[in-house]
Amino acid sequence: QNYLADTKRYDSMAYNRTGKSGVLLPAISIGLWHNFGFVDPIQNGRNILRTAFDLGITHFDLANNYGPPYGSAEENFGTIFNKDFKPYRDELFIATKAGYDMWPGPYGNLGSRKYLISSLDQSLKRMGIDYVDIFYHHRPDPDTPLEETMGALADIVRQGKALYVGISNYGPEDTQKAAEILKSLNVPFILHQARYSMFDRWVEDGLLDTLEKNGVGCIAFSPLAQGLLTDKYLKGIPEGSRASKDLTYLNKENVTTNIEKIQKLNTIAQERGQKLSQMAISWILRQPQVASVLVGASSSNQLKENAKALDNLGFSDEELKLIDKIVS
Ligand code: NDP
Repeated sequence: QNYLADTKRYDSMAYNRTGKSGVLLPAISIGLWHNFGFVDPIQNGRNILRTAFDLGITHFDLANNYGPPYGSAEENFGTIFNKDFKPYRDELFIATKAGYDMWPGPYGNLGSRKYLISSLDQSLKRMGIDYVDIFYHHRPDPDTPLEETMGALADIVRQGKALYVGISNYGPEDTQKAAEILKSLNVPFILHQARYSMFDRWVEDGLLDTLEKNGVGCIAFSPLAQGLLTDKYLKGIPEGSRASKDLTYLNKENVTTNIEKIQKLNTIAQERGQKLSQMAISWILRQPQVASVLVGASSSNQLKENAKALDNLGFSDEELKLIDKIVS
């Protein structure tokens, strides 16, 4: 069935500037880490992406190894893009990354120029597009000179294969160094992708300040702590949920050790007239450096629910203090 995007798609989403760049990102973006591999039904992924775009979510986030198997999220995205999104290419901001394990041997991991450049070439082929809007180095590599990794990002931009670059999972010091190198190379470094949620606040310890100082925006991943910060685990671990599955980075123990906090946070959300998932997203968007909150979804309905976070973004001092106390 042909896809025609909702004509009202830009009516309710908010768009935030990323750092000091010209790029506006939707306050909520969608990631394809889970639910888009060959192990998942592609029709569900297709529905999620259609729903996303209809909600004004213009930013889709991928990486070379999303699946499983590795590469399959990009390949499925390519199939969906070709069927549904080709006419909308210039309305989309598409990201991919390299930095984690991707192919065997010494050139398929970490941060060499050899790895980054060939990985992006593979990603573009799988997705069936000529360029990505942003290409990230996915994690710091302690053994490759930062000049080499950043030099590869610079050349990728010069080759026209990415319009902007970013880094992910870098600490404040390495971020500062990367920013300086990229500045000297005249490369548009606009985003740092970092894990940030009420359950993981490491970015507050220096990273957000470093980003602000350098005019770089932050995009927050796993904002719902992979589903913990929703109402789904309040009554146990449902069949099919991420925590119920083997081979994911969320396990049953993560649920049991956090359940008391989740219950308390859920009460605050209810008092605010919000779902816990919505409060978790609003809470991140209170940070001025955060341009976008990068959620995952296993259904279109989850994404619709999450997008309604924008209906209540304000927090009283009292609410913020209460949340600090619960999660500390
Ligand atoms: P979230 O914390 O948003 O977790 C998403 C999961 O939470 C969903 O798959 C779903 O799980 C559950 N969920 C979402 N909405 C709801 C809802 N309304 N009610 C109930 N449950 C809900 O983010 P992810 O951990 O998925 O990460 C998001 C994106 O961030 C990734 O896709 C990827 O693009 C990026 N990322 C980047 C990393 C990096 O190193 N740069 C690392 C990790 C992620 P369920 O299956 O149980 O329904």
